[in-house]
Order: sequence, then C-alpha cells, then structure tokens
Amino acid sequence: MKYYITTPLYYVNGNPHIGHSYTNIACDTLARFRRLEGDEVLFVTGTDEHGQKIKEAADAKGMTPRDFVDSVVPKFSELWKKLNITYDDFIRTTEPRHEKVVQAILEMFHKNGDLYEGEYSGWYCTPCESFWTKSQLVNENCPDCGRHVEQIKEKNFFFRLSKYQKWLLDYIEAHEDFILPVIRRNEILSFLKNPLNDLCVSRPKARLSWGIDMPFSKDHVTYVWFDALLNYIAACGYGADEAKFKKFWPADIHVIGKDILRMHAVNWPIMLHAAGLEMPKTIFAHGWWKIGGDKMSKSKGNVVDPLEMADKYGIDAYRFFLLKEVSFGADGSFSEEALVSRINSDLANDLGNLLHRTLSMIDKYFSGIVPERRDIGLADDITKAMAEKAGKIEHGIRSAMNKIDFSRALAVIWELINMANKFIEQKAPWKLSKAGKTDELKDMMYDLYEVLRIVSVALWPFMPSTAEEMTRQLGLSETKAELKYLSWSLARSGTKINKGNPLFPRIED
Ligand SMILES: [Zn+2]
Repeated sequence: MKYYITTPLYYVNGNPHIGHSYTNIACDTLARFRRLEGDEVLFVTGTDEHGQKIKEAADAKGMTPRDFVDSVVPKFSELWKKLNITYDDFIRTTEPRHEKVVQAILEMFHKNGDLYEGEYSGWYCTPCESFWTKSQLVNENCPDCGRHVEQIKEKNFFFRLSKYQKWLLDYIEAHEDFILPVIRRNEILSFLKNPLNDLCVSRPKARLSWGIDMPFSKDHVTYVWFDALLNYIAACGYGADEAKFKKFWPADIHVIGKDILRMHAVNWPIMLHAAGLEMPKTIFAHGWWKIGGDKMSKSKGNVVDPLEMADKYGIDAYRFFLLKEVSFGADGSFSEEALVSRINSDLANDLGNLLHRTLSMIDKYFSGIVPERRDIGLADDITKAMAEKAGKIEHGIRSAMNKIDFSRALAVIWELINMANKFIEQKAPWKLSKAGKTDELKDMMYDLYEVLRIVSVALWPFMPSTAEEMTRQLGLSETKAELKYLSWSLARSGTKINKGNPLFPRIED
C-alpha cells in the first residue's frame, strides 16, 4: 500500500509558530504510523514563497524577494529537523519543478477555455491579497481585516470556478470522507449554496512582479493561491515522473488548518477536476490553538514559539501535549501550565514511573536480566486483563488513527500503562520478594517488561525519541518498528536491560 500525505506549504512572510508545528507533528505521526503498517509513505511539506506579502516583507528588510525567501526557508526546515519531522520531500514554490507544473496547468486551462481574460474592477486589500466587491466591504474597509482597501481596474485572467460548482457539490455529497471533520464539510456545503464567483488567477506585473510568469501573457504573474496548491501534484511527479505520479496520486490526505479550508475544499478540487485528475481521498482541517481563549497574534504578543517550548520542555513532551490535549479537528487552548501538568501526570507519573520502577526491580531482583516466565497461562485476573488489553492495542490504535484521532490512540496506550501501574500497586512485588515467592515475582517482572516493550513500539509514531530511549533501556538492540510487534509475549527472557535516568523528571513550579 502507498500513503501520500501533505502539509500545507507555509507562507514564509513570518517565523514558524505553534500552528505550523501542530500540522507537521500531526502529519509526521500519521506518516510514521503508516510506516509501522508497512506502507510506502510519501510525506511532503514545504514553503509557499510568492505574492505581495513576501514582496513587502522583503522590501521592509531591504532585500530582494529571492534573498528574503532564501533567508526564511531554513527556519522552517531546521524546526522540522528539531521536532523530528520525517518528511520525504520539502518543496518550495520557487523551484523549477513546481513552476513548470503551474505553467503547464495554466496552458491547459487557457487552451480548453477554463481560463479567460476579463476586466477586473473592484476593491483590493493589499495585506489580505483579496479583491472585494463594493457590497462585500464593511464600513468601506476589508471585511476580513478591517483595513483600508484600494479601488483597482485592470485586465486579468479568471478561472471558471462557477462552471464546476454543481459538479463539486455532487462530489462532496457523494463522498462522506472527502472533507473532514463533519463540521468543515457542512461549512463548505453551506458555502456552496450561493453562486461561486470565478477566481482571478493573475496579477498584473505593473503591480506585482514576484510570482510565476503566466505563459501566455508577459504582463501577468500567477496569483499565489493558484500557484501554491499545485505543489501537491508537482511534489509527486506530475508531468515529470509519470511512474511516481501514478503510484502516489491521488493524495490520501491533505492536512490543513481550518483557515485555509475554502482554497483546499473548493478551489483545489475544481482545479484538479478541470485538469482531469482524481480527487484526494481526504482533506482534513484541524482547529486552532488559542492562548487563554484568544487567537494568537503578533500584535497581542502571545505567539507561542515551538522551538522555545521544545527546548524548555523537550520535543516529545511538546508533541505529546499537542496530540493528546484536544481531539484533532477541534480548537485547543495552549498554556504552559497545562503542558506542565500533562508532563507531570501522564509522562512523569504514569509512563516514566512505570519504566523506571520496573527496570529498577529487574535490576534489584534479577541482576538486570529479564526473567523467564512460567508456562502456566495467565494465572490471575489482573494479569489476564493486562494481556487482553495489550492484545487489543493494535486494533485500538489502528481504528483511532484511521479516524485521525490522535488523542484516542494515545488514550488506548495509556489504558495499558495505567493498568500496569495498578498491577504493581496491587501485587506489591516487594512483598513477593520478602516472602520468597520467586516464581511469582519472575512472572510479574516478565509481564511488566512485556507491557513496556509493547508501549515502546506503540509510542513510536507519537514520541519517537522516547520510544527509542525506552527501546535502549529495555535492552532491545533494534527498534522493531512494525505493528506486528505489538503482540503479547514476544519479549525474550535473558535480555539484559540498560536502566537509565527517568524519562520525564517531574517539573516543580
Ligand atoms: Zn484585508
């Protein structure tokens, strides 16, 4: 099986923030999970580098747009490295492989009549790069940002979105998983009840020259949103590597933030359909992280820097928090207090403690060697329940991940962790040791070790460094990164453990 997953291409007019990191951590988790499944994964991220705002940001720094984007792109690629994001390809919209695809599609639409030349007259908001009709203005200002708009009259090229409106509506209605979650699907269905306007896909060079040249007009460049979306086919070989394209297209999932839903769920499907290409299977729009109920913004000074959080609390703790705290699709509220509380409870207390005390006991009672378990079946109820829970973990994680529900998948893993902690409390191994019940103690240590081994495999997509450190401490020479290693009783007695420091030390206020 193949699995093609994309993030949006991030607009490089500012630094990456928590929202960017959230999308990429989510996509990385899905990509890693699919690799555990044995799928051939193509995971693509990148940067969107054209348009008015980039030009302005470059001007403000006294740089050319090219030098400016070259200076910002590493901030993204370095953040992804730091956050352990295992993308397969990083595409920039200023690369020739992308520009060629954009021009080929424009040519095609121009030839088949889906693109036409017209006069545009309207009000333009420069910061939003949006045109408005008079009736859309609010107090004569931009309805999105409230800023001043300019009246503009110019020749442009338009893409016939309106021609395909009926087709799109029918397609969405016939494909339940095309736009997720349901709230976003309904939002688009209701948006499509009103007539669609054709999309202005060009910008006159007299006003903006930083863009991809229109192949049939020397006076225009391509509108940045028309250009950027085409990366999804450019990255998987459209027009350049037919075998690769045939293998990976259509995408299995485009993960986006809900603020760019319309471009992805209206414009993009119509562009693909007009180009005679198949639809992606799913467009999933996740929610926003708010800061104490407020939207994050530069002006409010409440922008969360993912690098700072990862440095302060650890990459995996940051990944865990984002994936666990809210169900994917809903909005979340970010605070350092909430992050610290998750670290102390779920990571230090539940997971870290289970590993540390189990390995300490194996050290103490059996000189660091995983003991042999008696072949007596699962003697008592709690052992039986634990093995059963472990047996269901593969199914539980898979069904949650198929629904893109990270929080649920982690909850499945934590049920097993918590059961093992309870097992220790109830059976009090120190008492077994004192009473000389060595066989029972051996069985118990083997079972706890087995839970930890399974957890280390299951956690890998979510918290890769933690999973690898657990593997090391458990004395397993290799990471068995396949879902089949989630089966109960694969642990080998005789394995020498390498107890290390606690995974997540408690954070005191
Ligand atoms: Zn605006």
